[in-house]
Amino acid sequence: MWFLHPKKNNANKIKPAVGLAAPQIGHNLKMYYIRIEETDEETENKKIIEHAMINPKIIGKSEQIACIEEGEGCLSVNGDKEGFVLRSFRIIIEGYDYLKQQQVTITARGLEAIVFQHEQGHLEGNLYYDLINKTEPWMKKSDWIIL
Ligand SMILES: [Zn+2]
Repeated sequence: MWFLHPKKNNANKIKPAVGLAAPQIGHNLKMYYIRIEETDEETENKKIIEHAMINPKIIGKSEQIACIEEGEGCLSVNGDKEGFVLRSFRIIIEGYDYLKQQQVTITARGLEAIVFQHEQGHLEGNLYYDLINKTEPWMKKSDWIIL
């Protein structure tokens, strides 16, 4: 997964990628890698969220919907499919984290939860644009969290 529109401070205009799943590079394995860099706007402290998941499973999802404001992008999809991609705001995920070398149960919220759901989709054969409203892609409901 990557962000469609780079933030203003990305001088190189490179689409920042945040995740890659094994099937995207020709491996029929239930694995993906996630790396999200977040900068706290006040303190400018950098926080890195990183997981290398093997056989992950989403075991819980919130009813609360969240979407990324500018939509989602993907290495495996030609051209940008624009619109809000409806995801759960909070998920619980179980699997083996290769970086930690142990079985983990992770509660993820917000952007981290969205990236997990995007990459999990690659293991389950669905792509982000399946989750965009076909007739009104940018329609939003007031109780959705837009990130
Ligand atoms: Zn993708």
